[in-house]
Amino acid sequence: MNGPSTVETAERIEVTGLVQGVGFRPFVHRLADELDLDGCVGNDSAKVFIEVAGPSRRIDEFVARLERDAPPLARVDRVVRGRTELTGFGAPGFRIVESAEADGLRTFVAPDTAVCTDCLAEMRDPGDRRFGHPFITCTNCGPRFTIITDLPYDRPNTTMAAFAMCSRCQAEYTDPSNRRYHAQPIACPECGPTLRWLGPAGPVETTDPVAEAILSLRRGGVVAIKGLGGFHLVCDATNPAAVARLRARKLRPDKPFAVMVARVAAARALAHLDDTELAELDSPARPIVLARARPATPIVPEVAPASPLLGVMLAYTPIHHLLFDAGSPPLVVTSANIAGEPIIHRDEEVGRLLGPVADHLLTHDRAIHAPCDDSVVRVVDGELLPVRRARGYAPIPVRLGEGVVPTLATGGELKNTFCVTSTTHAWVGPHIGDMGTLATLDAFERGVRQFELMYELAPERLAVDAHPAYTVGRWARRIPHVEIVEVQHHHAHVAAVMAEHELHPGTRVVGVAFDGTGYGSDGTVWGGEVFVGDATGFDRVAGLAPVALPGGDAAIENPYRVALALLHSTGVEWGEDLAPVAHAGRRERALLARQLDGGFGCVPTSSMGRLFDAVASLLDLRHTITYEAQAAIELEHLAREDGTGGRGYRFGLRGPVIDPGPVVRAVVADLRAGVSRPAIARGFHRAVVDATVQVASGLRADGGPSTVVCSGGVFQNALLVSETRAGLRAAGLRPLMHHLVPPNDGGLALGQAFIASHRPPPGSES
Ligand code: ZN
Ligand code: ZN
Ligand code: FE
Repeated sequence: MNGPSTVETAERIEVTGLVQGVGFRPFVHRLADELDLDGCVGNDSAKVFIEVAGPSRRIDEFVARLERDAPPLARVDRVVRGRTELTGFGAPGFRIVESAEADGLRTFVAPDTAVCTDCLAEMRDPGDRRFGHPFITCTNCGPRFTIITDLPYDRPNTTMAAFAMCSRCQAEYTDPSNRRYHAQPIACPECGPTLRWLGPAGPVETTDPVAEAILSLRRGGVVAIKGLGGFHLVCDATNPAAVARLRARKLRPDKPFAVMVARVAAARALAHLDDTELAELDSPARPIVLARARPATPIVPEVAPASPLLGVMLAYTPIHHLLFDAGSPPLVVTSANIAGEPIIHRDEEVGRLLGPVADHLLTHDRAIHAPCDDSVVRVVDGELLPVRRARGYAPIPVRLGEGVVPTLATGGELKNTFCVTSTTHAWVGPHIGDMGTLATLDAFERGVRQFELMYELAPERLAVDAHPAYTVGRWARRIPHVEIVEVQHHHAHVAAVMAEHELHPGTRVVGVAFDGTGYGSDGTVWGGEVFVGDATGFDRVAGLAPVALPGGDAAIENPYRVALALLHSTGVEWGEDLAPVAHAGRRERALLARQLDGGFGCVPTSSMGRLFDAVASLLDLRHTITYEAQAAIELEHLAREDGTGGRGYRFGLRGPVIDPGPVVRAVVADLRAGVSRPAIARGFHRAVVDATVQVASGLRADGGPSTVVCSGGVFQNALLVSETRAGLRAAGLRPLMHHLVPPNDGGLALGQAFIASHRPPPGSES
């Protein structure tokens, strides 16, 4: 022990955040050594605790650097300092103590990350004992969330528990100076998992499964490859027949695929990438980045038909790198699933794909505990716009405050995610998929159970969408002894933005919810709403004029039907020269006209998403769709082709009603006058932005909030996000957009959790 002249103080420091499985304790050890401080560091399932003794100025520096110099994957959420007794420090020096069980709040679980450059260098070094090892990993990289079965994050609580470490791996694992110190998934060719190669007839004996995979891909084959969070279906992105085969087998005629390449330089050759996009692409999360495709690349048009964008992603597992090192072409990489079902992540299930969908299977014996799809992001004006949040991000922690009610939010029907909260934090789970199949509900239930176990949570409330027919809502309402909180769909969208920006739940905002569809408080379909309110409630102060839609939501797949209904409601005759009219045919038109006149089977719909669909059909762009928002996405692309600045259209603003009539009539007139379609599409976008800014400015002028939060699936549209943000700012307002969770229904659960967990208990006065 140091003499009393040098020891001025001793402190106990507790660090919470993303501090497990990220090399935090060895980092603390090195830092204490460098500053010549005595003490120890350890972790329990809730936090990292540090006891440290030395001159107080050096302890201050130590604490400052805990946050500033933390390891790349760590995220320090909170540091709590307190005096402690000096007597606790036995021997001089600093040491790491063993894990202890803890009660209370559990610490954050790290997301999966891409293999790091140090590991890759070893994997490519013929002299290294892990040369060519497909499972190389260290404290700074590799699988985390997808292999964790329980906390604290230690090897027995991962799917690596099945593999006993060899003596050399054990030595690295227990050496605090080694970069694999306490790296739970550590393995080597001697003791780790192994690759296997299978054909339709079963396992195939081979010494080089990677070479077999390359051979199959080069011949145009479809190979299912086990990744971090599930299986991918993979084929050669430069081979039109291979891509067409994959489309036909996956029953996915149009929706763009993403392409994986090995390096940043290869990605830049395929798409225009700005600094933010490059940083995101190359980040440890390795998401799919949707960026503007370059012309005349080797990527065949079948990969992303009718889209000027290309989803690019970098190799992120050692197996991917082994494939590219062995000469793989750029690869189409898509989740292995069967239409709408969750990603397949168990070997037993992938057998269903082998033969009908995949020609071969490249797999291994490290189990995936939690399925996790690839994430998808866009970048708008240098700011992130999430499209799907899963691998590399999940579980997403959001700080809610103190003493909120532990809640499970069940999300929506499409693009489902769930969200669980403690009394202080929310954790958003990974994208699960579209409800409506047993497999999806099963994945939802298993995901929720895993989160409850990991974080030791027992929700007292279940937050559900107010829609009476949502699958997860019906599931939740059958659970006894918990309080059900129904949250209106668009209120949840708006609250999700508030939550991710850590606004106080009582902050009054203008909420703009432009969405495809959602159950309105009056039982009709909403989706073009402007609210004023906070997390406790809202007033619907303006909204798109409802259109009577034959068949309601059933019209979603048929934008031409929406267009016909819109023409009908805005008083434009169904002239044969109009594209949706011609598309419908005489008999269907007669039927629809009868329905619309009588109102039979028609549901009033104020959805902005449907308005985009209708305009896309009027422009003869897309009359039926094969994936969600296809027509609206193509309308955005068309608008971007415009070089004129676009036509000037204006919505009618009559009190609380945003009337699309004037826009629709002007669009029809322009079409008949032969105005260029991109100029019309551009003008339509501008009109939506102008109406939004005008409504928000009007509310502000009447003493309303200056903060305007924008959410809903329509804000997946990058052009709309960019111009709405600029327009609101120019009007002196404060726009807030999504950066953490998607504006589509993938963000719904966070908003539900924010609203429900802050709601006072029933019967209490507020
Ligand atoms: Zn590594
Ligand atoms: Zn080993
Ligand atoms: Fe929605």
